[in-house]
Amino acid sequence: MKLDLHVHTCLSPCADLLMVPDVVKDFSEKLDALGIADHNSAKNVRAFSRVKEIVVPGLEIQTVEDVHLLCFFTKIENALKVTEIVYEHLPKIRHDHERAGYQLLVNEKGEYTGYEDHPLNMPTDLTLKEVVELVVKNGGFPVYAHAERRFGVLFQLGFFPELEVYVAEVVSEEGKILAEKAGLRAIVASDAHRPEEIGKRYIEISCEGKRIEKIFESILRGEYRLGGVCPWLG
Ligand SMILES: [Zn+2]
Ligand SMILES: [Zn+2]
Repeated sequence: MKLDLHVHTCLSPCADLLMVPDVVKDFSEKLDALGIADHNSAKNVRAFSRVKEIVVPGLEIQTVEDVHLLCFFTKIENALKVTEIVYEHLPKIRHDHERAGYQLLVNEKGEYTGYEDHPLNMPTDLTLKEVVELVVKNGGFPVYAHAERRFGVLFQLGFFPELEVYVAEVVSEEGKILAEKAGLRAIVASDAHRPEEIGKRYIEISCEGKRIEKIFESILRGEYRLGGVCPWLG
């Protein structure tokens, strides 16, 4: 099973407005499963839940240290519950769609149904430790996003803290080595903000059954292969 766990939708202010269900479906034909992870919100996940047989509900939370943490759930309800809590911890200002990028809510047909006015491009006032605890408490699975790049834990803090996070998304061979040295499983994903980026990095899992839990069990056991178009991924 080919899986790209880190895909943004038109809800993320920095993503292309074309990241709507039909387009994401067309551009993910070679993949078997997708993770939908917008900045600080899972409000568009339901609209994308049928673009693939398996869609992992998620969001990418920005902590007070400016660390991006991917947070995945087996049920949309849990991702939405955590979203509501995240909203309470975002700055109390109205998002400026014109200046900072549109944050569009869509339905399954790809029709825009509204604007999200919480500033999703800003950090929450929650620490990384608090976010990890929140996610784990709600049955979620935290993964460091693009660990060695800007807004990644390694870039921001300089080290991997000892928390209940066992997997890091990396973007380079060096990042993979550093994550593995810290005892983490290193995965790759596209962090797609535009349709043509979907699947440019992915993982391949031999996974029995189609349950989301099984995907994460396989990742924790290291039963996956990295794939993508970059040279270091072969
Ligand atoms: Zn990020
Ligand atoms: Zn991202």
